Amino acid sequence: MEIEKYFPYSSFRKGQKEIAIAVYQTIEEKGHLIIEGPSGLGKTAAVLAGALSHVIENNVRLLFLARTHRELERIIDELRLISTKVPVSGVSLRGKLEMCVNLQVIESSFDHRSHIELCNLAVKSSKCEYYNHTYEKGVVDDFVRRAAEFPVKASDAYEMGRFQNVCPYELIRILLPSSKIVAVSYMYLVNPIVIKNFIKNLGQDLSNFVVIIDEAHNLPDFASSVLSDVLSIRSLREAVNEAERYNQRELKEYIRFIINFLESIGNKNDEELFNTRLFMDEVYAEFGLSLNAIADQCRMYGEEIKYQLLISGKHPRSYIHRVGEFLLRLYDTVDQKSYIHILSGKAEKRTVEIVALDPREAVEHIFKEALATISMSGTMKPLEAYTSIVGIPESVKFVEVPSPFSEEQVLTIIIKDVTTKYELRETEMYERMARLIAQIAINTPGNTGVFAASYEVQRGLLDGGLRNFLSKPLFIELQEMSSKDNDRMIQEFKTMGDKGGAMLLSVQGGRNSEGEDYPCLLYTSPSPRD
Ligand code: SF4
Repeated sequence: MEIEKYFPYSSFRKGQKEIAIAVYQTIEEKGHLIIEGPSGLGKTAAVLAGALSHVIENNVRLLFLARTHRELERIIDELRLISTKVPVSGVSLRGKLEMCVNLQVIESSFDHRSHIELCNLAVKSSKCEYYNHTYEKGVVDDFVRRAAEFPVKASDAYEMGRFQNVCPYELIRILLPSSKIVAVSYMYLVNPIVIKNFIKNLGQDLSNFVVIIDEAHNLPDFASSVLSDVLSIRSLREAVNEAERYNQRELKEYIRFIINFLESIGNKNDEELFNTRLFMDEVYAEFGLSLNAIADQCRMYGEEIKYQLLISGKHPRSYIHRVGEFLLRLYDTVDQKSYIHILSGKAEKRTVEIVALDPREAVEHIFKEALATISMSGTMKPLEAYTSIVGIPESVKFVEVPSPFSEEQVLTIIIKDVTTKYELRETEMYERMARLIAQIAINTPGNTGVFAASYEVQRGLLDGGLRNFLSKPLFIELQEMSSKDNDRMIQEFKTMGDKGGAMLLSVQGGRNSEGEDYPCLLYTSPSPRD
C-alpha cells in the first residue's frame, strides 16, 4: 500500500490517512464503503490516494460520480496535483447538453432526454458541423496527445470546442477508453437512456471500475428525479396546434380528448392521485385503441416531424413526440408499486406527473456490478436509510471521521423570531429576515454566502429588500442561469473577498451549496494542505 505516493500534499490532516486506508482495503476486498466526514476535511484527496494506490497497481480503473460541475472540476484539480508526483491520466465529463456547442440543437431541446435524441438525429444526418469537424483528419491530435500527460477538465474541452468548432463531448469521449480516472455527473450511471452508451464508450464494463460517489446523500433524490416525468396541459395544447399545422386529424383528436379528460376530472384539491386505469379505459372506449398504441403513433409521427425540421434547417422540436414519450412512460408505470401518478394544478397549470418512489431501480446496478464502491458525504446518517434506498449489500463498511475544526472556529447563531414556515411567508417576514442577513454580512469581513431554503424563499428575500439593506455587491444564483454563467459568477464572487467582500445568494441543495471552496483572503478556508 503506497498511499503517500498518491497523496497530493506534504502531510495528512487528521482523519485523512484513516480514510485512505479504509478505501484501499475495501477495494482489496471488492466491498462497499460509506465515509462520513465534514466539508473541508479533504475527503477527495484522501479517497483518491487510497484508491489510486490500489487501482494503478492492479490494472483497474476509477469512476468518480459527482452531482455538480464544480465537484467534477475539483477532482481533476486534485489529480493534476497528484500527476506532478506520479503520471496519471484522467478526464471529467458533464452532461451532453452542458457540453454541447450546437446552438440550434440546444435551443430545440426540452431537456437532457430530448437533447440526446436531437443530437443523435443531427449526427446521423451529418447536420452537426461540430461533430463532423471533430473527426476531420488531424484536428484533435494535439489535444489527445496532451491529455495523455495532463488530466483534462470538461470545461477545457468546452472552451476548445467553442474556439475550434469541434464537439466538446466528442473530445472527451475520445479520451474515455484510455483514461485511468473518469469523473462524470451522476447522470451517466443513473439515467437508463445513457448508461449503455456510456459504458460502451468507457471501453470496459463496470466490473473493471471502482465507483466513488461524491456527496452520496444526493444520489436517491437524483435517481428519483431521473425516473420521474411530468406533462402539462400547456404542452398538450402545443401538441394540438402542431397536429393542426401538420394536418394530423387523428392525432389532434387523441390529444384533444386527453385535454378534455384532464380538465373534466378531479376535485379542486391541489394534488390528488391520477386514476391512470380509468384514463386508459376511457381512451379505449373512445377510440378502440390502447393508450400504448396512441402513444406509439404520437412518438413515431413526432420523430418524423423532428427529422423534417432538422433537414430543412429549422429547430427540430416536436410537442407531439413529447406527448408520445410521456404517455408511453405512463403506460409502462401503471400498476407498478414503485410509481404513483399525480394530478395537480388548475386550468392551464394542470399537470400529470409520474413520480418514482423507489430510486433503487436506477442505481442498484452500480452496487451489483462495480468492482467496489465508495460512497462519501458530510451527512450520511441514518445509514440504514441510505443503504436500503440505493440497494447496497448489508456487508457495507462505515468510516466516520470527526470534524477537524474546533468549536472556537465555528460561530453558530440561532435567531428565533423568523421562520420560512409556508403559511408565514409574508413580505413582513421576508423583510425581517433580509434586514438580519444584511446586518450579519455587513459585520462580516470578506465574503458571505447565504443559502435559502428554496428559490421561492430566495425571491422572498429579494422582494423583502435584501439588496437595499446590503452595502456590498450581491451575486444571485438564478434558477434559470446556465451552468457556464453560474461558473463565471462564482469566479467573480470569489475575487471579492479581499475587495471589501460581497454576498452570494444561493439555494440550499443547489449547484453552489456543495463541493465548492470559497476562499477569502481574510478568513482562509481550511484546505487539505493545512
Ligand atoms: S455532436 Fe456535439 S455539438 Fe453536435 S449536437 Fe451533439 S453534443 Fe452538440
